[in-house]
Amino acid sequence: MPPRKPRPGPKASGPKAALVAPLTAPAKPARSRRPKPVDREMVAEIFRRFRDANPEPRGELEHTDPYTLLVAVVLSAQATDAGVNKATRELFRVADRPDKMVALGEDGVREHIRTLNFLNTKARNVVALSHRLVEEHGGVVPPIRAVLESLPGVGGKSASVVLNMAFGEPTIAVDTHIFRVASRIPLVRADAPLETQAKLERIVPPEFRLLAHHWLILHGRYVCKARRPECWRCLIRDLCRYEPKTPAPAS
Ligand code: SF4
Repeated sequence: MPPRKPRPGPKASGPKAALVAPLTAPAKPARSRRPKPVDREMVAEIFRRFRDANPEPRGELEHTDPYTLLVAVVLSAQATDAGVNKATRELFRVADRPDKMVALGEDGVREHIRTLNFLNTKARNVVALSHRLVEEHGGVVPPIRAVLESLPGVGGKSASVVLNMAFGEPTIAVDTHIFRVASRIPLVRADAPLETQAKLERIVPPEFRLLAHHWLILHGRYVCKARRPECWRCLIRDLCRYEPKTPAPAS
């Protein structure tokens, strides 16, 4: 008897094709199993405690004006603030304005940021955005999101940081630290940084919104660390729903 032909599986074409889940689809963590975000009263209490502990939090990227902040932010992609500061101290000594940066040129910028990663792309972007500022905006950084986001090397997160720190807009740019902290507590339920930003900007009370970005970054960088959060010394430990909390290391 000739071997039987295998039966064709269910057809997955036409408008319903997208509804047929592929057998190999990776399992997504069920949203409902994550703890419920804290309520607005607790959000306010969390930020009250951050403010009481550190009334004037500051970003750690060194800069003197909106332009040097913008350059520092562009250079900070995939790099530490300390590493960027080390490079910009030298760079800004010779080029702290867009026209000077254009005159320095890509090779000159590269020389000063040699300790950073992606230095070719970063040098190209810094010179190109400086050129655009000189040609189109009189050499100044405009406080306009659409313009900032159109500059080479400047994405939505970088634009939010500049708008917040240089122009006092109450944006909450979400980096890896803020995304982690907001998901652990949780302040919001979101799958991506942009969704987290939109939700944070809705739920953080107005009086805390301008500085929320700094408080959350500092908390993530020094207490709610990626590999091992230091829950035993966390000032919002009783409000946070992350489990299990980490105990103090044995002395
Ligand atoms: S209790 Fe732990 S997990 Fe929660 S915010 Fe504090 S350090 Fe992070």
